This record gives sequence, C-alpha cells and structure tokens, in this order.
Amino acid sequence: MPGTRPTLLVAVLLLLLPLVACGDEDRVDDELVRSSPAPGETPVGTSAATPSGADADAAGANATAAASTSTPAPPTATPNADGVYIVACHDFLVPLDKVHRLEADCAPNALVSVPDVYAYGAQEVVEGVLPDLLALLKAASEAGHLVAVVSSYRSYETQRNTFEYHVNEFGLQEALRVSARPGHSEHQLGTTVDFSSTTVGYELVEAFGSTPEGLWLAEHAHEYGFILSYPEGKEVVTGYAYEPWHFRWIGRELAAEVRASGLTLGQFLLR
Ligand SMILES: [Zn+2]
Repeated sequence: MPGTRPTLLVAVLLLLLPLVACGDEDRVDDELVRSSPAPGETPVGTSAATPSGADADAAGANATAAASTSTPAPPTATPNADGVYIVACHDFLVPLDKVHRLEADCAPNALVSVPDVYAYGAQEVVEGVLPDLLALLKAASEAGHLVAVVSSYRSYETQRNTFEYHVNEFGLQEALRVSARPGHSEHQLGTTVDFSSTTVGYELVEAFGSTPEGLWLAEHAHEYGFILSYPEGKEVVTGYAYEPWHFRWIGRELAAEVRASGLTLGQFLLR
C-alpha cells in the first residue's frame, strides 16, 4: 500500500477524516483528532461524510427505535451461506456481533442532531434516544465531567469505509478486534454513541476508561439507558477489544436489567 497511488490515498484519507474519528470499535488517529473541532465548534469537513437525513429516511411505517418496546425479534433461524444471520431492521434490540448483521439498506427512520455543545463534529442519533442522551450528558456535566459525543450514527457505507481504513492501517486481524465489518456495527442502529473528553484529547483510547469522565460513565450510563457494549476483559465473549467509550442505548429498564445480570450486552440480547 505505501508508495502506491499516493494522491488517491491522500484523497481517500481526507474523505475519511470524520469517519475515522468515529471508528467503531474505534481507534482514532492522533492527527485526525487534533484536526477536529472542540465540542460546540464548527466541525471541519464533516459535511461530505456525515450521514445525511436523506440516508436515514428510508421508507418505513415503524416508529423510531425508542418508541418500540417490543421484545427483540429473533435473528433469522438459519444463517446465510457465510454463517452470518441477518437481523431485523428498525428493531433496536437486535444482537449485532461477528455473526449478526443488518442489511446494507437498513437505516433509522428518524435521526436528529446532537446539540453542538455536546458534539465533537456533527453527530446524529435516533430521535427517541436523544432525551436520555441529553440527560446523561447533563448529569455528567453537573457532576463536573465534560463529556462529548465523538461518534454516533454511521451508515453501512460509512462503516465500510471505516473498516477498510482499519484494515489498511492495522491489517485484517487487528481490524477485526477494533472495528466492525459493515452491517455488523451497532452504530448503524443510530442508538449507539462513542464518548470522549478533553482529558484524552477526544480520542477513543483505552485510557479514557481510567479518566474521571470514563469512570463516571461506567458507573452511571446505565441509569440513562446506555450500556457499555465491550467491557474490559470480555474480548473472548464480545469479539472486540475493550472500548470504554462505546455505549449502546437500550432504554433505562433494560439497561438496569443488563447491569444486574452481569452479562455482556450481546449475551443479554441473545439469552
Ligand atoms: Zn463505537
């Protein structure tokens, strides 16, 4: 890769700037982070890569994810030839992991912007998630912790670019530990966010888990319906490296149940 088509490579990386800063299961390049705006500031170069509302406005009569209280739809009974199960679109409780994925054209019905004051670059979540997200961020702030959303909804296409970036940067084996293949990312649901803070330069790094902000989130996020998808020491279960920044919203009641169960979110959703 190095030395080949340098101009094209640079162009692609520039296009991916805002995507990489939200690498699912994300590793953020230092340079990319330093070039990004602080929360509340105008994001740099996000317009081209930020999923548009049009992307998310796929037809569908279902209410927003948050409005649904139904039990999770089971994955398809039998996997595809490649061993992967396709899960239902517009069901915010579907399992998403190495063997469960969404269709490429699955997108949330109603996305809303996270207010600039809490967003690092342009960020969108499913409408029904926003109240709990804002409550969490406000509570963190009142506790003295300034936390920002640095990644949120990602379309299938965005995730494809993100995953390819990780493969090119770290190789396939490492990419699979820290990034989801397209369709397999919880970010495609529009209910999942990555948090960070100025303490770690708004990077998505393991060290965030040891910061006051990361520790507060680990202790309180579930009170607002958010669960840490990939806890420390659970890689053998989740398939992903520890990600103290990656939280998926499932509602306050279920989040309390997950917390009490001691299970990972994936185990809980598949139980
Ligand atoms: Zn994430």
